[in-house]
Amino acid sequence: MNFHPLPFYDERQSPIDTLLYHCSALHTEEMLNVLQQNHLSCHYIIDTDGKITQVIPEEKRAWHGGLGSWREIKNDINSHSIGIELTSLDMGQTPYSKIQIEKLITLSKKIIQRYNIKPQNIIGHSDSAPTRKPDPGKAFPWEYLAKKGIGLWYDLNNSLNAPTTNLKKLLKGIGYETKNFAAAQYAFARHFMPELVEFDNNIEHLIDQIYPEKIDFNKNEKFINTAQAVYMSFNP
Ligand SMILES: [Zn+2]
Repeated sequence: MNFHPLPFYDERQSPIDTLLYHCSALHTEEMLNVLQQNHLSCHYIIDTDGKITQVIPEEKRAWHGGLGSWREIKNDINSHSIGIELTSLDMGQTPYSKIQIEKLITLSKKIIQRYNIKPQNIIGHSDSAPTRKPDPGKAFPWEYLAKKGIGLWYDLNNSLNAPTTNLKKLLKGIGYETKNFAAAQYAFARHFMPELVEFDNNIEHLIDQIYPEKIDFNKNEKFINTAQAVYMSFNP
């Protein structure tokens, strides 16, 4: 592990209970420059070759999440979370490198153990900021990570046990802020139904156009069933 400390942090206002994954289309050195220029930070960077760089001590509040909400967390997601940045030159739209994910798993497991982080609170930047952020992207291996004991996946058979078919209630019950319903639906798709998210080879456009404003999956039965199944995983 390398260390490249940045001075952009302050004190946490709450205990660590969340793990937040990001990606940036930059290798480590360039990412550190961009963080420096923008007075931002994260706790760790994992490059495509698996090299890990620590930027901020875990106990400090790093500046990576911006305003973000998830489940009972309102706005100050940085106080709650440890932020891990992954290098992905197409912003997580094609598979991450194997070594990078293996390193991510080892690091995540240690953090989860240290702070006893609930699997419901292992999320992506897009989950906590659906209107603003597309990372860590549709190819982030959530299902594989869940098999390794990190975060939650779902079993479609469990959709039958869900208490409602109301999509907004389901997304809210999973953890999403649903004030912008289209954005919440698309963030859910990025995480749990990536086949619904279009590939965009223009990274600037991708970062700018976080979700299709007219999107509404209310008539998509499989989407509702998946939201029900995910709801059951998150609320056992
Ligand atoms: Zn991010």
